[in-house]
Amino acid sequence: MLKGKTAIITGGTRGIGFATVKKFLENGANVALLGSREETVEKALEILKKDFDSSRFIGLYPDLNSKSEIASALETIKNTFGSIDILVNNAGISATSKLYDYAEEDFAKIMALNVNAVFNCSKAAAIYMKNQGGGVILNTSSMVSIYGQPAGVGYPASKFAVNGLTKSLARELGKDHIRVNAVAPGVTKTDMVAALPDSMIQPLIATIPLGRIGEPEEVANAFLFLASDMASYITGTILQVDGAAMT
Ligand code: NAD
Repeated sequence: MLKGKTAIITGGTRGIGFATVKKFLENGANVALLGSREETVEKALEILKKDFDSSRFIGLYPDLNSKSEIASALETIKNTFGSIDILVNNAGISATSKLYDYAEEDFAKIMALNVNAVFNCSKAAAIYMKNQGGGVILNTSSMVSIYGQPAGVGYPASKFAVNGLTKSLARELGKDHIRVNAVAPGVTKTDMVAALPDSMIQPLIATIPLGRIGEPEEVANAFLFLASDMASYITGTILQVDGAAMT
C-alpha cells in the first residue's frame, strides 16, 4: 500500500510508533524512525534488522523543538531515500497531575512535545511535500481530545490542539495536495498500559463497548489506511480507534 514512499515516524522506537514503523515497512515504504535518544533508536533498529532489509530504514534522534536539528534530519532522510512523502507525528508524553499540583513547567513540557513539535515537523516536512507535488501528514491525537480527562489537563489540552492543527492544516495545505489527518487512539496496550495491574485494567475495560483495550497494531492499521492512496479523498479527519470508549 505504500510502495516507493518515504515515511518519517516520530516516537518510532516503541509502542504505537514502532508498530507503525513495522506496518509501513511491511507495506513497502522506506522509513525514518525518530526517537529521543541514541540508545533507544539503536535498539529499535536492531529489532527491525531481523525482519527487514536494513537499506530501507534509518534512525535519527533530533530535538523536535530545534528548527535546525529537524532541518538537518529531513535533509538526511531526503538524501537517503530521495523523497519525503509521509510524516507521522506520533511522539507524545502525558501526565496525570491534578490542577492544584500541576507545575507550570510540566504543562509547558507537554505542550512543547505534543503540540509545538507537531507544528515544527509539519512545517519542515510540508515544504518538501509541496515541492514534490504532494504528501501526507498524520498526527496522533487521543480519545481524550473528544471528551477531556478528569485530571492531567495538559494532556487533553495538547490533543485538542493536535485536532486543531489537523483540521486547519488540512484546509490550508489541500491546494498543495498535502492531506492532513489524525488518529485518536483509545487505551492502547503499549509498555505503560501493559504494566498496569489487573485491578486497574479491568474497570477500564468495563467501560469499553468492544470489551478490551486496543493493540498498537490496530492503531498502525489506521495510520496505514490514512497514509495510503485508499484515503485519497480524506483530509481533516480525526479517526477514532478506541472501541467506542467514552471514559
Ligand atoms: P510510548 O511512551 O510507548 O512511546 C512514546 C514515543 O515518543 C517513544 O518512541 C519516545 O522515544 C518518544 N518520545 C518521548 N519523548 C520524546 C521527546 N522529548 N522527543 C522525541 N521523542 C520522544 O507512547 P505510546 O503509548 O506509543 O504513544 C504514542 C502516541 O500515542 C502519543 O502521542 C500518545 O499521546 C498517543 N496515545 C497513546 C495512547 C495509549 O493508550 N498508549 C492512547 C491515546 C493516544
